[in-house]
Amino acid sequence: MLSHQIITGVIGHPVKHSRSPELHNHWYQEEKLPWEYKKFDITPADLANFLQTLPSNLRGLSVTVPHKESIRAFLDSESSAVTAIGACNTVIRDLKTGHLHGENTDWQGWLTAFKAKVRLAAPAIIVYGAGGSARAILYALKEGGYQNVKIFNRTYAKAAELATKFGFSAIQEPEAAPVAINCTSLGLAPIDPSPIPPELITKDSIIYDLIYTPSKLAQICRNQGAKYINGEPMLIEQAKLQHQLFTASLFPNSIKSALIPNH
Ligand code: NDP
Repeated sequence: MLSHQIITGVIGHPVKHSRSPELHNHWYQEEKLPWEYKKFDITPADLANFLQTLPSNLRGLSVTVPHKESIRAFLDSESSAVTAIGACNTVIRDLKTGHLHGENTDWQGWLTAFKAKVRLAAPAIIVYGAGGSARAILYALKEGGYQNVKIFNRTYAKAAELATKFGFSAIQEPEAAPVAINCTSLGLAPIDPSPIPPELITKDSIIYDLIYTPSKLAQICRNQGAKYINGEPMLIEQAKLQHQLFTASLFPNSIKSALIPNH
């Protein structure tokens, strides 16, 4: 059957530690889809060549650091979320025409996870960080109807720029708030300091961290009795959305023709 030959994968540099293959290949097995999800370790210098010579049986890509922004130059179309966030974490390829469509499932995956874990009606929220993931989270907060949102970042100008873009406000110093979201890369290394000042974390705090490895922030939350949510639910929810996009609706005709032998 032709469907044996369909592949998907994650493109990044490095990708050695990516957990995406584990998730996607599990779903393929569960749905008895004989597809394979691979890791493509592609340097920025090799990105153009890789995308211009994609295998004809490649259906989709998850995109991770450092390609989420640069890949946009190679897309044939992109969703309004990709344009607003300025980053693409998902590419769906039409198996018939080779058309590459860019999506962003980070924001929606995060919002789904956030709503499931944080059931406050209109909480005051501080977002720490102003990089790529912060843009996805701010877009999600806007789409989710959250209004009381402030942004703190080491480089204030970037926080101010995002505040203007998304209609929130930027702050020069961290503040106490019932909900704080860590979108900085602090915590990736276990020795990193907490991005949120420990004195602002109490037993009533809800801390949502995009990082999913053990960190100082997680430890402080445990010590203070704060509610701590790590980046794992977001990782899983955004991957679920990618799985739906890769295996279903966007180009239904070409997917159907790829699945039916001799079509
Ligand atoms: P970016 O490189 O785009 O942004 C990094 C941010 O961290 C910037 O705001 C930067 O501030 C800040 N920062 C970096 N170093 C320091 C420091 N020493 N002190 C204070 N602030 C600092 O990264 P991303 O936004 O793409 O990713 C951020 C994190 O989110 C990563 O750890 C990534 O693994 C995680 N992530 C998790 C996902 C998930 O599914 N769970 C999905 C996407 C990301 P400045 O502007 O001043 O440089």
